[in-house]
Amino acid sequence: MNIGAHVSTRGGLALAPGRAVELGAECFQTHPTSPQSWRPIAGDDESASAFRAAHKAAGSLPHYFHAIYLINLATPKDGHREQSGDALVDHLLWADRLDAKGVVFHPGSHLGAGFGEMLPAVIAVLARVLQETESCPVPLLLENNAGSGACIGRNFEEVAAILDGVNSPRLRMCLDTAHVFASGYDIRDAAGVHTMLDALDSKVGIERISLVHANDSKAELGSNADRHENIGDGKIGNEGLSALFQDPRMARIDAVLEVPGMEHEGPDRININRLRSCAGKPGLD
Ligand SMILES: [Zn+2]
Ligand SMILES: [Zn+2]
Repeated sequence: MNIGAHVSTRGGLALAPGRAVELGAECFQTHPTSPQSWRPIAGDDESASAFRAAHKAAGSLPHYFHAIYLINLATPKDGHREQSGDALVDHLLWADRLDAKGVVFHPGSHLGAGFGEMLPAVIAVLARVLQETESCPVPLLLENNAGSGACIGRNFEEVAAILDGVNSPRLRMCLDTAHVFASGYDIRDAAGVHTMLDALDSKVGIERISLVHANDSKAELGSNADRHENIGDGKIGNEGLSALFQDPRMARIDAVLEVPGMEHEGPDRININRLRSCAGKPGLD
């Protein structure tokens, strides 16, 4: 298992690979554009080759894009839903250009219309996005959420309904450990982790997981609150995280931290080492 982190793109995307190496990350995730803005990803041939050179110099670590937070594929408002699809197309094309291994996205909220009611529209917009990017090998990675409000993807049944409905090898899943816990899966010990992984495998299929967001949770089990905590300092704790990250079923999956960090400046080397220890890997200096 590669242990990595979300890293900042402050000053330009091409600075991200170096930041990942500095942290001791073996893989990394970025926001390729401001996550609160609809602005398309800014770039040209020059910025693309600057990123590719920096990425190569950093050992070509596997990297992932996290799409903007404005995306909502489940909204009953057709315009917003299609605009969300367009944003995913933009992310996928850039991901292909910059050798990213996947584009993580939050599926959004049905805003009270109901999951079953909006499911066909969710499937249609995802199918359209994948069709428009047919020549691109990069997968979309649907991230499970903590289950607040009318968010979709709150449990493995909902994730599976979307993945099965689209039925494309390019639609896969990103598992966030803090969200899975807050949405009601008790992963505080080995027995709970096995139960969760069995459910994940039977509903979604572990072979459809590409990435794990490795986070402890400030929020309680089943609270539906999305609050990440440093590894070992939250309500999940080391016992559950160790059972999860040492489970052989997780061995081929990349993991990135999205924790606040000891200095509240994002994932740091201390959390990298804590997660490495959970995964049974030797610590870094
Ligand atoms: Zn996310
Ligand atoms: Zn996440």
